[in-house]
Amino acid sequence: MGDPFRNRKELIALLAGRMPHYRELLSFYEKIYELQSRAEPRLSIKLPKQELRDIGVREGFPLLSRGEFALDVSEASALFESLCTAIKHANETIETTIEILEGAFSISALRREELLRHHADDAYLDGIARDFDVESGVLRFLIHASILPSLRSHAEAIKKHLDLEKWLRGYCPICGSSPLIALLSGEGRRSFICSFCGTEWPGERLKCPHCETTDHTKLHYFCAEEDEGHRVDVCDNCNRYIKTVDCRKLDYEPDPILEDVTTIHLDILATEKGFLRLSSPSFRR
Ligand SMILES: [Zn+2]
Ligand SMILES: [Zn+2]
Repeated sequence: MGDPFRNRKELIALLAGRMPHYRELLSFYEKIYELQSRAEPRLSIKLPKQELRDIGVREGFPLLSRGEFALDVSEASALFESLCTAIKHANETIETTIEILEGAFSISALRREELLRHHADDAYLDGIARDFDVESGVLRFLIHASILPSLRSHAEAIKKHLDLEKWLRGYCPICGSSPLIALLSGEGRRSFICSFCGTEWPGERLKCPHCETTDHTKLHYFCAEEDEGHRVDVCDNCNRYIKTVDCRKLDYEPDPILEDVTTIHLDILATEKGFLRLSSPSFRR
């Protein structure tokens, strides 16, 4: 256990040593993790009544919409500001977007708090991207990275009051978002990680998380050469794919986001084969 950021830092060093071509991307995420790990959002969370929670789990209704998460807006705003400083020079698109945003903040043409409060409002964010001529993917990535500590805290607080063994759906029990990635552990137990709030929930092993088919003739997977720890599960029924980390074949404790960003070669392979990703991280949406 110990300091989670320290553990992540060690994991990043290990992965960067093994995959030099992902070193730059890993160092980008290291900066983000370092800043996020300092966040301690203070939230006022209202837990839905037990009855509603039970109905939600039974009927497959997620408990919250994205816009209903409690946010510590002032903390998220400070994180947004420090993230902009830390990752500004990562690439040209990020640099241009951050420069425009910082310019708009400095003359109060735009307020960080307003952006964050509208994180779930696609029309608003598309309008901002258009009006200020900034890259919408970068804008959304910055917003999501800034509110993630709040989202995680809220999801954690709710999760312990849900019986997720009865959920077994292909979308998040807390917020309804698609899974970022799947994990296999123990005796082949499958779980999913939410692309929005980071919640992990158990799923059925032989069922497509998108169209829910259990027809085994439609479900198969492929791996990259010489890497048994990662695979792509595909469904011929709906043409979607999800990347799966087989934790039993790794010699380290995986971090879902890092596993996602260091398997972009699998996304490329899956796309070349004509499959669509089940969910995209906010950055690449
Ligand atoms: Zn979620
Ligand atoms: Zn499917």
